[in-house]
Amino acid sequence: MGGTMISQELLERFTAIVGERHALRDAADLAPHLVENRGLYHGASPLLLKPCSVEEVSAILKLASETSTAIVPQTGNTGLVGGQTPREGGADIIVSLERMNRVREVDPVANILVAEGGAILAEVQKAAEAHGRLFPLSLGSEGSCRIGGNLSTNAGGTAVLAYGNMRQLCLGLEVVLPTGEIWNGLRRLKKDNTGYDLRDLFIGAEGTLGIITAAVLKLYPQPLGKQVAFAGLNTVEDALALFNQASSLCGPALTGFELMPRFGVEITARNIEGVRDPLESPHPWYVLIDISTSDSAETAERMMTTLLEQGFEAGLVQDAVIASSVAQQKALWHMRESMSEAQKPEGGSIKHDVSVPVSQIPEFMHQAEEAVMAAMPGARICAFGHMGDGNIHYNISQPVGVDKDAFIARWHEMNGIVHGLVLAHGGSISAEHGIGQLKRDELASIRSEIEMDLMRRIKRAFDPAGIMNPGKVVNV
Ligand SMILES: Cc1cc2nc3c(=O)[nH]c(=O)nc-3n(C[C@H](O)[C@H](O)[C@H](O)COP(=O)(O)OP(=O)(O)OC[C@H]3O[C@@H](n4cnc5c(N)ncnc54)[C@H](O)[C@@H]3O)c2cc1C
Repeated sequence: MGGTMISQELLERFTAIVGERHALRDAADLAPHLVENRGLYHGASPLLLKPCSVEEVSAILKLASETSTAIVPQTGNTGLVGGQTPREGGADIIVSLERMNRVREVDPVANILVAEGGAILAEVQKAAEAHGRLFPLSLGSEGSCRIGGNLSTNAGGTAVLAYGNMRQLCLGLEVVLPTGEIWNGLRRLKKDNTGYDLRDLFIGAEGTLGIITAAVLKLYPQPLGKQVAFAGLNTVEDALALFNQASSLCGPALTGFELMPRFGVEITARNIEGVRDPLESPHPWYVLIDISTSDSAETAERMMTTLLEQGFEAGLVQDAVIASSVAQQKALWHMRESMSEAQKPEGGSIKHDVSVPVSQIPEFMHQAEEAVMAAMPGARICAFGHMGDGNIHYNISQPVGVDKDAFIARWHEMNGIVHGLVLAHGGSISAEHGIGQLKRDELASIRSEIEMDLMRRIKRAFDPAGIMNPGKVVNV
């Protein structure tokens, strides 16, 4: 729950910073910002501010600190753990960077791009492409999520295997601290060992330490060759063996290795318009393989053909298609990226965003399936994801015909089962989506006392007034 309501007089003072036109107060205008994508969290807020400069953000946070007013940063509102949703009670003001959406600079020689916190990810990708460069972060939500949110959640996505997550793609930051002070850390250096790494503290902090207003991002050459294949397999063990072969054969050219179960492919073909199962007959498991090469198109072609030949010979691959055009490549990726959306028409879905060491994926999957089915006969498991990073979205769709609310009421029980196994395998209960509200209490229960204490001390040092996104990640 949030704290006390904010007075009209104080709301006017906040509004004056950005101007009436850029302050939302109307219930209908605010409504889309009070709920997150999955509908798990509904908050309340009397005001949403859209500053247009770092100075305006600074003035907002200074006033907030002086008046102990809680601030929730929100950019694309595509986060999946409720970090961007205000608390109930109506005491949180939302700050949206959607007007601070410029790409300030692209330097293709230095391979860097400077973007504001409100720049939409897809626009940043396009700006890099216009200069013959690649910004590799790629997510299903890239048309609406924004750089400030991507950094604050340390977003992962489909190309982490080759390029790393947002932390690895960022060189420098500009941040407004909760006190209103501005930290200009827009450095462009790959090597910089000058004291504590403040940048890395803000990345993944989910808006609890300050507002990220701009960032220096890393660019890469556009690949000359790209191959995408979709293969049907019998077991997760076969998928792991094929991944091992692909890593050896392709090295850094292996850009994506995604695992999907039959149930996932079936519901995506059934529920998403334009998607069809690319293979003639069904298989228990599938992998999507993406290879990108920067020397020539032939290298990618040769790698993919050799990999699939080896896979067939070893009995790992049962059937496969290689996309023969860019449109087909996109169609295969679209199927994979629509798999979350495809679960919605199937009723309730209990989600897990977990990671385990890659070599332990098969054992984890078997144990989790056994435990989940024992606890909930009829559950339909849709465990898919970025196998190359050990990141599985272990989602459970409700058994056919059961009551959705009764199913969702078992969310924490099912979390306990899946997360227990994840921890036993040395894994993480949040691979790429973060902690937010959803996993805040669980975080405190799985991290050591000293680790939680250090996190709380960092929070207090950056945010003495406790105004930055309270109730998210850690309770102070
Ligand atoms: C269809 C779909 C697919 C997705 N796929 C992936 C995926 O593959 N990998 C992945 O990692 N995530 C994925 N996500 C989750 C989500 O898109 C990412 O977490 C994304 O990085 C959030 O960006 P956003 O701009 O929407 O942030 P928001 O949702 O607005 O905010 C997310 C968090 O960051 C904070 N925040 C936002 N802006 C700032 C700022 N400027 N300064 C400080 N804090 C800030 C918020 O307070 C909140 O805690 C997916 C989501 C959807 C809906």
